[in-house]
Amino acid sequence: MSSNQRMVEKRKIGIMGGTFDPIHCGHLFIAETALDVFQLDKVLFIPAGDPPHKNEKLITDSGHRFQMIKLAIEDNQNFEASDMEIMKQEKSYTIETIKILRCQYGEETDLYFITGTDAFVGLETWKEYQKLLSLTNFIVMTRTISNPMVLEEKISQFTEKFNAKVFKIDIPTLDISSTDIRKRVQEGRSIKYLLPYDVEEYIRNHHLYED
Ligand code: ATP
Ligand code: MG
Repeated sequence: MSSNQRMVEKRKIGIMGGTFDPIHCGHLFIAETALDVFQLDKVLFIPAGDPPHKNEKLITDSGHRFQMIKLAIEDNQNFEASDMEIMKQEKSYTIETIKILRCQYGEETDLYFITGTDAFVGLETWKEYQKLLSLTNFIVMTRTISNPMVLEEKISQFTEKFNAKVFKIDIPTLDISSTDIRKRVQEGRSIKYLLPYDVEEYIRNHHLYED
C-alpha cells in the first residue's frame, strides 16, 4: 500500500457562532451552503452565553435561544447544537471555544468557522483574533454591508499578514436578521417564512420579543 493510500482524509467540522436571538433562515442557509460546498462532516451551532459584543443590549435567555436552535435543526442530521458557551459562567469568547474544539477534535480534523460578511469585517475587535485565524479556517458568506470593498481588503490583509485561510462564498443574499425579526414581533407583524415554523410557534408560545 502506498503512503498516499494510507492517508486518511481529515474530518471537516463547520462552526456557526452567534447570538441566535432568534435563529432564522439566513443562519440555516449559510450553514447548509458551507456543508454542501466544503463537504463538511457536520456543522455545530454554538450560541453565545454572554456575548462580549452585545452586552449593551438585553439578550433573550440562553435557554430559549438554545431551544429554538434545537427546533430549527431537528430535521437536518448534519447539524448539531452545542451548549458549551451557554454553560459557562463568564463571557464567552470565540478564541476559547475554538481552542477547546481544537483539543477535542485533534490534528485529524480541520475547523471551518462560518460567518456572514458583517461579522467577519469586525474580526479585529475579537479577542486574540490573530491566534483565531491560525487555529481555524474561515468561510465568509456574503451579506449586504455598507462598504463591500472592506471585505476584500480584510481578506487579503489577513491572508498576507497571518497566512489565514479565508474562503469567500457568494450566495444569493437573504436580507434576514434577528434584529428585524424581533422588531416585527414587537410591532405585531408577520415573521412567517423568515424562520422555521416550529421556531415561530415557540416564539408565540413563550411570548418572546413582544415588549
Ligand atoms: P442580530 O440582528 O441580533 O445581530 P443576526 O441576524 O446578525 O442577529 P447573529 O446571531 O448576530 O444573527 O449572527 C450569527 C452569524 O450569522 C454571523 O456570522 C452573521 O454574520 C451570520 N448571519 C446572520 N444572518 C445572516 C444572513 N441573513 N446572511 C448571511 N449571514 C448571516
Ligand atoms: Mg448579528
